[in-house]
Amino acid sequence: MENREHFSAFIYSDTYLKYNLGRTHPLKPDRCKQTLEILKGLNVFDDEYVLLVEPPPATEDELMLVHTEDYINFVKRMSERGYGVLDFGDTPVTRGIYDGAVARVGGSLEGARLILSGRVAHAFNFGGGWHHARSDRAAGFCVFNDVAIAARFFLKKGMKVAIVDVDGHHGDGTQEEFYEEKDVLTISFHRYGPGFYPGTGDVNETGEGEGEGYAVNVPLPAGTDDKSYIYAFREIVPPLISAFRPDVIIQQFGVDSHYEDPLVGLSLTTHAYEEIARIMHNISHDTCDGRYLVLGGGGYSKNVARSWAIIFITVSGAKCDRNAYEKLHDTHSSGDNIRDDVREVVERVKDVLIKSEVGVRWKS
Ligand SMILES: [Zn+2]
Ligand SMILES: [Zn+2]
Repeated sequence: MENREHFSAFIYSDTYLKYNLGRTHPLKPDRCKQTLEILKGLNVFDDEYVLLVEPPPATEDELMLVHTEDYINFVKRMSERGYGVLDFGDTPVTRGIYDGAVARVGGSLEGARLILSGRVAHAFNFGGGWHHARSDRAAGFCVFNDVAIAARFFLKKGMKVAIVDVDGHHGDGTQEEFYEEKDVLTISFHRYGPGFYPGTGDVNETGEGEGEGYAVNVPLPAGTDDKSYIYAFREIVPPLISAFRPDVIIQQFGVDSHYEDPLVGLSLTTHAYEEIARIMHNISHDTCDGRYLVLGGGGYSKNVARSWAIIFITVSGAKCDRNAYEKLHDTHSSGDNIRDDVREVVERVKDVLIKSEVGVRWKS
């Protein structure tokens, strides 16, 4: 393991609470605040290498790295009006949602700036991760796509970016933004199947033009458990990232793949999240001096905050009471054997990548 002479930042602002889709909506605005409270309870901010940072809101120019001016103005108007929906119904409006959305994008950009400056190696904005939003529209609870905006920020500095999206849903908005570009590698692990949102993310979506071979999708069957998921993750992510050699890694770390999540139907436990975090942390040090920006995403059960707290502590290595940390975990991990249908998905992904004469040169 690398030494601990590097810093981690937990980024949060109370303005995030204005990202409110309404009282009965499955997305709760206070998940990030709860995560912060758990971490405070474990005294992780007493660790000299852990920073707590309040970000400024994103500016309109920053939003326009990805979004159109018309769409930004539309969100602003709807936010002042305080009711209605931004898309076909998934993403309702409450008064002030613009401020909440802009605060959260600001958090992801603050993380990006802290990493770029070298002040920290790892930055966490669990208030971000809005991977379904498009340049000109909201989608699937997402207003502005901070994942794509942060990637554009790094691209403008001449950096190559790997985006790993482990949300239970396909990272369609992020993939679309970079589909024809070769300096951003997108890898998405998600549930896939008839009728499941958003319906994209099959193995054969690999990018287009210059971007061919730089979009990777790992569509998983319902019920995929820790054992099978981690198998697929290890087979695909480390070899691809070491072949791509990014300058920075962004991870959308939605935790709606948890077995108790009401919307997704994957079967992961917190033990899988810890393992994913450990793998990604090691890759970040092996390939890009630890430059690793961790964002949030989906998560609609009571398990979100403790899942994100586990991820934060695993990556940052923050000193805390190990017994209290262990209590954050689910009591068991899931899965005894690697499922045949997941092995099959992995083989299909490898087939597509190895056959591709462009894109990341897969080392088998
Ligand atoms: Zn580290
Ligand atoms: Zn999701």
